[in-house]
Amino acid sequence: MQAKIVLLPGDGIGPEIMEQAVRVLKRVAERCGHTFSFQTEAIGGTAIDTFGDPLPEHTLDACKHADAVLLGAVGGPKWDDTAPALRPEKGLLRLRKGLGLYANLRPVTVYPALSAASPLKQEILSEGLDLIVCRELIGGIYFGQRETKTVDGIRTAYDVESYNETEIARIAEQAFQLAEKRRRHVTLVDKANVLDSSKLWRTVTKEVQKEHPSVTLETMYVDNCAMQLVRNPARFDVLLTNNLFGDILSDEASMIAGSIGMLPSVSLGEEQVHLYEPIHGSAPDIAGENKANPCGMILSAALLLRHSLGLEEEAVRVEKAVEAALEKGLRTADLAAPGASIASCTTMGDAVYAGI
Ligand code: NAD
Repeated sequence: MQAKIVLLPGDGIGPEIMEQAVRVLKRVAERCGHTFSFQTEAIGGTAIDTFGDPLPEHTLDACKHADAVLLGAVGGPKWDDTAPALRPEKGLLRLRKGLGLYANLRPVTVYPALSAASPLKQEILSEGLDLIVCRELIGGIYFGQRETKTVDGIRTAYDVESYNETEIARIAEQAFQLAEKRRRHVTLVDKANVLDSSKLWRTVTKEVQKEHPSVTLETMYVDNCAMQLVRNPARFDVLLTNNLFGDILSDEASMIAGSIGMLPSVSLGEEQVHLYEPIHGSAPDIAGENKANPCGMILSAALLLRHSLGLEEEAVRVEKAVEAALEKGLRTADLAAPGASIASCTTMGDAVYAGI
C-alpha cells in the first residue's frame, strides 16, 4: 500500500502529539510493508504568522490531493484578538467546508484500564460503553448568518441556526449506515420542543429511517441527552445530532472515557479525502511542556488506517498498542490519579511505538 498523508500539526500541543502519531504510522509502514509519504502544511495560528492566512491556498490544495489528512489542533491566546476572519479556528472551519466534510464521527469507549479515570461510578461503567457521536459539521449555527450591532443604544448580537433537508438527510444517512454495522439503534438529539430547525431534523430523519428498516430510531431532547449520557451511557449506540449539540455532547462523552485527550475523530464527506483529528483543542495551558496525552491523536491515525486506507488489521494493531500501554500503567497527567507517577507525551508515544 502506498499513501500520501498530509500533516497539519497546527498550534499549541498539535506539533507534539503529531510527532508521536507520525512515529506510529512510520512504524506501521515498516512492520507491515507499506509506503507512506508525509507532507507537512501550515494551518491555524502558525499559518497566520507565516502566511497571513489561517488556511493558505496551498494547504487546502495539498489536502485535496492527499489520500488522507491528519490534523493536530489550532488556536491559542496569541490569536484571540485577531479579526474574526483571521482567527485560527476559521482555518479549520474553512478546511472542513473546502473538503466538504459534513459528517464528524467520534467513537467513545472506555478502556478497562482507564475505568478509574472516569468520573462515573463503576456500576454505571460496568454496563459497558460503546457509542459514536455522529455530528453534522459544516452547517447550522457555526456557519449561519451572524451580527453584532447596537439597537436603540443596546448592544445586541445574533447567530442563525439554519439547516435544509439535504444537509440533514446526508448526515442521517451516514448515521443509519453506521448503525447497521453496529447495534442498529440511532438516537436523534435535538430541541424539537422549541426549535423549528430541530422539527425539520425529526421529519427528515424519520424519512431516511424508512430506507433502513432494521435500525430503530428514537428522538431525545438535548437537555435529556446531556443527563442520560452520565446516567446510563450504555443505552446509546449512534447519537445523531447537529453541529452545536454535537460539539458540546462529544466533550461531555469524552470525560466518561477518562479524558478529552483519549478521543479520536474522523470527518467524512462527499469527496474521498477524509480528515482525522483528536477531539480536543490546542491546550495552550500545557503546550511545549511534553505533558500532552498523544493517545487521541494516535487513535486518529488508527482511524485513518481503517477508513482511508482500508488497513483494518493495522488499525487494530495501533489500538491494541495504545491499550497495552495503558494496561502497563502508563498515565499522562490528564489520566493520572492524584499522587501517581506521570508519563510524558514522549514516554507514552514510546510505549505505543514499542507495542506495534
Ligand atoms: P482544549 O481542548 O484545548 O483544552 C481543554 C482542557 O483539556 C485543557 O485543560 C487542556 O490542557 C486539556 N487537554 C486537551 N487536550 C489534551 C491532551 N491531549 N492531553 C492532556 N490534556 C489535554 O480546549 P480549550 O482550552 O477550550 O481551547 C484551547 C484552544 O483550542 C482555543 O484556542 C480553542 O479555540 C482551540 N480549539 C481547537 C480545536 C480544534 O483544533 N479542533 C477544538 C477545540 C478548541
